[in-house]
Amino acid sequence: MNNTIKKVGVLTSGGDSPGMNAAIRSVVRTCAYHNIECVGIYRGYQGMIEGDFKEMGPRSVNNIINKGGTILKSARSKEFMSAEGRKKAFEHLKKEGIDGVVVIGGDGSFTGALVFNKEFGMPVMGIPGTIDNDIFGTSHTLGYDTALNTVVECIDKIRDTASSHNRLFFVEVMGRDAGHIALNAGIGAGAEEILIPEEDLGLDRLLESLEKSRNSGKSSSIVVVAEGDKMGKSVFELKDYIEEHLPEYDIRVSVLGHMQRGGAPSCFDRVLASRLGVKAVESLMEGKSNYMVGLIQDEVTLTPLEQAIKGHYPIDTELLRVSDIMST
Ligand code: ATP
Repeated sequence: MNNTIKKVGVLTSGGDSPGMNAAIRSVVRTCAYHNIECVGIYRGYQGMIEGDFKEMGPRSVNNIINKGGTILKSARSKEFMSAEGRKKAFEHLKKEGIDGVVVIGGDGSFTGALVFNKEFGMPVMGIPGTIDNDIFGTSHTLGYDTALNTVVECIDKIRDTASSHNRLFFVEVMGRDAGHIALNAGIGAGAEEILIPEEDLGLDRLLESLEKSRNSGKSSSIVVVAEGDKMGKSVFELKDYIEEHLPEYDIRVSVLGHMQRGGAPSCFDRVLASRLGVKAVESLMEGKSNYMVGLIQDEVTLTPLEQAIKGHYPIDTELLRVSDIMST
């Protein structure tokens, strides 16, 4: 490998997700393995602008593979959206001798990385870290698998109460633009109905389905609703609507919220983070830039950042069909 990279910076940006620490650990240790220096950049792009850096060696990432959140902290930086802010960031990187940056975050963070590369030629590599799994060029983003397991565990617990009291529960899960969490966790937890941003089930069909499920002798029902559900109703408005039309139902709402982002990463996310971190550093060493590392058919693959930002995977309609059959 004809490596020209001597010092790599790593940062986490945007919303945190389980597995980010495992990815930081992987980047730091891959650098150490190849005798490259590594610098942790705190608070995403804001820390870059302020020169909030810390040298990291293999022992500085001990015992973090199992921790949620990010030891480097994350931030959304308005200042980095301005050319002036980015210039300050570049000056700090130059002074520190950093000649490549690994950005762990979502599509906004990747957009920032691309703009930065275009302006200053700084080599950048992205690692997809977001629980929503809404990034093109990877079958799994870091934290998605953990979030699915968290949601399934929560719904299992809610079901205990639902079935003890013959209740209908609306459970809101994360996913403003993408229903992957709702659809997969919904099937995994045996939800009767799943409402997602990509498909408009329609209120009439929801009513019909709930009526059918009651008449078929089901003692409890769980409806999983993604935040950005296409019907455009909040989970509380849905509750009011169903209460009005099916008064025999005793309805409760549970919004899972931020607990979905936290917690120890699953084994899958830890392994994924480790693989992606190695590929990100070694790709920089090979002189590559402006790519995202991701998983496609279980192969670690590079996708141009531009495609990763613009591309879109449609929802798996076969999963919708499976969900329909399962709620018979
Ligand atoms: P999440 O999926 O959790 O929202 P994200 O990476 O998409 O993560 P954003 O808040 O959209 O999160 O972006 C993170 C940061 O990236 C922003 O705060 C900003 O500093 C930087 N960024 C986003 N878009 C741009 C842009 N067009 N130009 C420069 N920087 C940007």
